[in-house]
Amino acid sequence: MFDENCVFCKIAAGQIPSKIVYQDDDVVAFEDINPQAPHHLLLIPRRHVASMADLTAEDGPMLVSLFTTATKLARDLGFDKGGYRFVTNVGPDAGQSVFHLHFHLLGGRKFAWPPG
Ligand code: 5GP
Ligand code: ZN
Repeated sequence: MFDENCVFCKIAAGQIPSKIVYQDDDVVAFEDINPQAPHHLLLIPRRHVASMADLTAEDGPMLVSLFTTATKLARDLGFDKGGYRFVTNVGPDAGQSVFHLHFHLLGGRKFAWPPG
């Protein structure tokens, strides 16, 4: 479903330019406009889902596709060896600012734990 007020729906549809690194029928991966690491990609479903809190069992295959795309991109882009982070923020306390489900794929440096 397309939400005309959603920036990530527009990116997935090619209506807003972005640096897309991978796309298929279910998933789009593109570079974050404000990278927090040498590699910072966002992985989204094409379908508008506001956040992880709105997923249902029917989204299972799409989620598998998101995760396997992330591991493949980390490998293909050469930042899998040292490790990487794959995270999603849910709601304002976690810092979610775009309400279309997205996973941050971050790599190329060390990350602190616990996160801030
Ligand atoms: P959140 O804070 O919701 O977890 O993450 C939203 C992310 O989307 C941020 O890292 C932000 O830099 C990125 N972002 C917001 N608007 C755009 C945009 O128009 N294009 C791209 N490529 N990234 C965006
Ligand atoms: Zn959307």
